[in-house]
Amino acid sequence: MTARVSIDGAACFACGLCYVLAPNVFVEGHEGKAELNPRYRSGSPYEGLVPDELLPEAVRGMMTCPVKAIDVAEVDERLEKLKNAP
Ligand code: SF4
Repeated sequence: MTARVSIDGAACFACGLCYVLAPNVFVEGHEGKAELNPRYRSGSPYEGLVPDELLPEAVRGMMTCPVKAIDVAEVDERLEKLKNAP
C-alpha cells in the first residue's frame, strides 16, 4: 500500500513540527515551510507518494500539524499503474 501525502503550502506557517517529528517524510523548505522529502515528490514539493513503511510517520506528521495543513490518503496502486501506463 502506498499513501499520497499533500501539504497545503498556504496554510503552513512554518512551525517545524512535522519535519522534526517525521523527518523521513517532511523536510524544511523555503522560509521554514514544510515540503515533502524530495525522494517521494511527484512534480511539486508539496505532493507525492510515500511507501508503506513510512505511512505511520506521515500520519504522525499529519496529526501533529496545528493547522491541519497535511493530508494523507490511501492510494490504489493498481489504479495508479493503469493511469500512468502509456
Ligand atoms: S506542522 Fe503544519 S504548520 Fe508546521 S511546518 Fe508542518 S505543515 Fe507547516
